[in-house]
Amino acid sequence: MLLPRFSYHQPASVAEALEVLGQHGDQAAIIAGGTDLLVNMKHGKLAPRHLVGLEGIDGLEEIGADNGSLVVGPRLTASALAASGELSGAAQALALGAASLGSPQVRNRATVGGNVCTARPAADMCVPLLVLGAKALLAGPDGPRELPLDEFFLGPGQTAKKPGELLTGLSLPRPAEGSGAGYEKLGLRKALEIALVNVAAAIWLEPDGKTIKQAKVALGAVAPVPMLSPGAEAALTGQTAGEEAFAQAAEAAATDAKPISDHRGSAQYRREVVQVLTRRALGQAWQAALGQ
Ligand SMILES: Cc1cc2nc3c(=O)[nH]c(=O)nc-3n(C[C@H](O)[C@H](O)[C@H](O)COP(=O)(O)OP(=O)(O)OC[C@H]3O[C@@H](n4cnc5c(N)ncnc54)[C@H](O)[C@@H]3O)c2cc1C
Repeated sequence: MLLPRFSYHQPASVAEALEVLGQHGDQAAIIAGGTDLLVNMKHGKLAPRHLVGLEGIDGLEEIGADNGSLVVGPRLTASALAASGELSGAAQALALGAASLGSPQVRNRATVGGNVCTARPAADMCVPLLVLGAKALLAGPDGPRELPLDEFFLGPGQTAKKPGELLTGLSLPRPAEGSGAGYEKLGLRKALEIALVNVAAAIWLEPDGKTIKQAKVALGAVAPVPMLSPGAEAALTGQTAGEEAFAQAAEAAATDAKPISDHRGSAQYRREVVQVLTRRALGQAWQAALGQ
């Protein structure tokens, strides 16, 4: 399978990238690692005439700080995020999700920006980003804007990103003391597998080390978009961390999930898996928050 013909552009700044995108409209596509885009082009699903690479733009491949937030650059690869020392506490959720994506070869190319913009319901970096309350930072012809990630995902492969907009970062609250994360993924195979269900959890403990100040659970592959479980959050907030609270939260997460049956598993099976994985992810997050 050959790729269709295209011109390659390598802008040196966000402003230049927006200019190229504006000039070529729907004939242009941004390319990061290419692990989604090039596959779709080879399969004839997409045929952009202009590809806009981001490697000439400084700062898109770093984790920076801004007013008490961490800003994760969209060109950071899954490998880089999995190994990053800057993602501590609850922010480890992103490192754990990144480490579960594809294979080493895919992780070395696949970027967090591409994962978020592709918006698959099971995307390994999107589910963790939801528990962290991440915001998408966008630059476009009408100026910059930011959008909470749970408003960014609209459906499978669909986002609130407008034509001509570029994702310039993902903003996360700075890691807090006494917080930790867990991530669980079940696929039909052990490697190179899109999740049948994936669950991310983050817990923030009160200084007593027992009471849950805040907790979030996000679910993948059980709705048209990666989703937060409000029921799990309500079941955990203010409770004493431990098996009892986690079992109640897991039940609430299974109720919140909206799975459908397909060739990979029934809706009922997916709900049961949500329950098991939520309990495990919360247990991991708790241990991590205790520094164990
Ligand atoms: C063999 C294989 C296994 C895989 N396994 C998994 C898996 O286990 N889990 C998983 O979640 N995914 C998996 N994927 C999918 C893919 O690797 C990920 O979605 C990856 O994160 C996409 O990132 P990328 O940098 O390659 O994106 P690209 O392919 O370069 O781009 C993807 C889309 O995002 C847009 N885009 C990229 N960056 C930006 C930006 N900064 N601003 C605006 N738009 C942008 C592009 O225009 C394109 O539409 C797999 C893919 C392959 C080929």
